[in-house]
Amino acid sequence: MQFTELGLSAELLRAIGEQGYTTPTPVQAQAIPHILAGRDLEALAQTGTGKTAAFVLPLLQRLSQAQDGKPASPLQKVTHTAPRVLVLVPTRELAAQVLASVRTYGAHTGLRALAVFGGVGINPQIQSLRRGIDILVATPGRLLDHLGQRTVDLSKVQTLVLDEADRMFDMGFIRDIRRIIEKLPKVRQNLMFSATFAAEVRELAHAVLQNPALVEVARRNAPAELVTHSVIKVDKEQKRDLLLHLFASHGWHQVLVFCRTKHGSDALARKLEQAGIRTAALHGNKSQNARTRALADFKAGKLAALVATDIAARGLDIDSLPRVVNFELPNVPEDYVHRIGRTGRAGASGEALSLVSSDERIQLRDIERLLKREIESSVLPGFEPQHTHAVPRPSAGRPPAHKPAPARSRSGGGARPGAPRPARAGGGGSKPASHHSGQRHR
Ligand code: AMP
Repeated sequence: MQFTELGLSAELLRAIGEQGYTTPTPVQAQAIPHILAGRDLEALAQTGTGKTAAFVLPLLQRLSQAQDGKPASPLQKVTHTAPRVLVLVPTRELAAQVLASVRTYGAHTGLRALAVFGGVGINPQIQSLRRGIDILVATPGRLLDHLGQRTVDLSKVQTLVLDEADRMFDMGFIRDIRRIIEKLPKVRQNLMFSATFAAEVRELAHAVLQNPALVEVARRNAPAELVTHSVIKVDKEQKRDLLLHLFASHGWHQVLVFCRTKHGSDALARKLEQAGIRTAALHGNKSQNARTRALADFKAGKLAALVATDIAARGLDIDSLPRVVNFELPNVPEDYVHRIGRTGRAGASGEALSLVSSDERIQLRDIERLLKREIESSVLPGFEPQHTHAVPRPSAGRPPAHKPAPARSRSGGGARPGAPRPARAGGGGSKPASHHSGQRHR
């Protein structure tokens, strides 16, 4: 199928062509006709599938048509002061990216868009809202601020988009969303995009969507197919040196590195910088300007590494990012899927490499369960782990072994000869903490 077959206007086709796209992705091919027809939509599509253009393109078209239909004099430009499309997103980065897509695809339509999110001054947003816009992209918290100050009028909203709805739940925005929805006209079009359809997302879908068309382009929780996953087993203390070694030996140039904490991201970014690898950290404690600059530099290839936390990296859209490295595994296995959604996008291939220490083997097991397959693991010469990676059997009530066990032993053990005797698991339970044996204090 070609974009020209979807019934999109010449202005939109021109903008799509300028991006070099000719073929719609599956979510675009399936969703665009429904949205153009004014239907509600429930779409199961993760980041990287082209889902943003799947709603932006038809909504731009509907707005332009409505605008063309107004009997405006040629000298008098039609001005809609209040937004007619509201896109709710979980993070500032995603807001900025959706806005960029609206501006890219809407370049020849004359429609006006604005993104409002926290972490930046509210006054410029108020001024832009006053001047009038057609499409408003917003994070829930800042939008509620505007509603509280009566600086935004949502009474003209014809279409509501809930983007990355599952993430809205993860981040605790659901009550905010409900409060915002109360301010919208009752009759409107509703579109919901989510990477997973957990029970609570379905519940919201049920409450908000009216007889929706269903579009599903990825298996539940399935990561991008073209990504190769691999694990290097390594001791926690060795991870930084291993990462430096990988940068040096492979000449890596554009790597998104995930850490679990803001502090950890800063420390790792410093270490990489000290080693001469151009790096920035991206997390919630950074000012919006610093985050925008880091992302722009990374996209432009000026940085070899961007060290990010899960929330900061949510929805990042970087064309053809070759590699994602999990310096630490996420605690929630679904976050692994979100993380690697940053590579292998829209048909490109990518690599997801995880550096896994023995204390993360439960997270690794949960990720493998979610992916329904084992991830190939290896050990790098010079970085062989000294701590066992064996997953303890839940009922393993045996005392810890006194001699080193084989690497894949399920009974724990594997302590380095001469390592301190294993401590008992916290709380003084009867189960031996054999899987902690030999681990240094952190
Ligand atoms: P998204 O899932 O919206 O985050 O988009 C993922 C990436 O796919 C973005 O970099 C888009 O620019 C790109 N993209 C969107 N539509 C297409 C298309 N039809 N063909 C190729 N790439 C696309």
